[in-house]
Amino acid sequence: MNIQQILDNRQCFKLVCGAGNEDAEQVRRLVFVYALAGASIFDLSANEDVIMAAQDSLKRAKSEAALCVSVGIAGDPHVSKAVIDADKCISCGACHSVCPQNAIADKTVNHQKCIGCHKCEKVCHNCAISFVSQTKPVSDILTPLCKYPISVYELHAIGENEAAVDNDWAAVCEMPSLMKSLCIDRSKVGNERLIARIRRCLDGRQPQTTIIQTDGTPMSGGKDDFRTTLQAIATAELVTKYNIPAYILLSGGTNSNSSYLAHILGVPIHGVAIGSFARQIVADFIADPHFWESPDIIGKAIERAKMLVKNITG
Ligand code: SF4
Ligand code: SF4
Repeated sequence: MNIQQILDNRQCFKLVCGAGNEDAEQVRRLVFVYALAGASIFDLSANEDVIMAAQDSLKRAKSEAALCVSVGIAGDPHVSKAVIDADKCISCGACHSVCPQNAIADKTVNHQKCIGCHKCEKVCHNCAISFVSQTKPVSDILTPLCKYPISVYELHAIGENEAAVDNDWAAVCEMPSLMKSLCIDRSKVGNERLIARIRRCLDGRQPQTTIIQTDGTPMSGGKDDFRTTLQAIATAELVTKYNIPAYILLSGGTNSNSSYLAHILGVPIHGVAIGSFARQIVADFIADPHFWESPDIIGKAIERAKMLVKNITG
């Protein structure tokens, strides 16, 4: 099945490795596990080592799943990295224990691993953590990736800067894939402005060649409950009301209940993108130093991943 058929069947499971996740070995393992569990799209950072690692795992798993590369406008949390001010840090360790990527050690943050989730910032009582955003133009980031078989290019358009959205979306649309994805949320803009933004971005695009990824609360999906997904479904519901000719994927706070909740609320979606929760349920296996040499570890990881994929795709 190609990507449009999967979306038409409303059975898309997208594993979000993280637009800011440049840990190629972690991505290699995640893609291998979720490819064998039946994921249909893998969302990756715009990093050649990461893309090659994902390609390698798809080949190894004999999977025909699609690759999606994500970039963000300046300031978007998905492409921001934490920085610790060593003068303010008192080494209390609070940030270490909440970091889902184990990216913090000795008052420094490993930027290859940091996914910009801001969890560390929320627990630091000394205001020692700030964020830096990528500043390279999106076209410069994406152009070297033309040589890879990328099926979807995605822009995270979170923020108030309409000119940045237009400019970076134009750069994304220049890329060779038929399908593009626009990831939006309502944290900074109201409903009317959000719909106007979507309409502007879709102007001139063929119907059903765009995915609108309705991000509820970005990178908040640690819990497997109904509540965490509500914002993503509310945003999806808004988009469906305007008859936008695009596919809709939920994201941001998604978990094993997301598809079911959308169904009982009568919100027609084409699939679910899951990051934090999907990575969290296999994190111990993925981090195991004996991962590749242990069929038992890999098997257990795949079993957990399969249950999640099945909950989404039915
Ligand atoms: S939470 Fe803040 S003060 Fe504590 S170790 Fe982290 S950066 Fe330092
Ligand atoms: S908690 Fe999140 S933002 Fe902070 S260092 Fe870890 S991955 Fe980066």
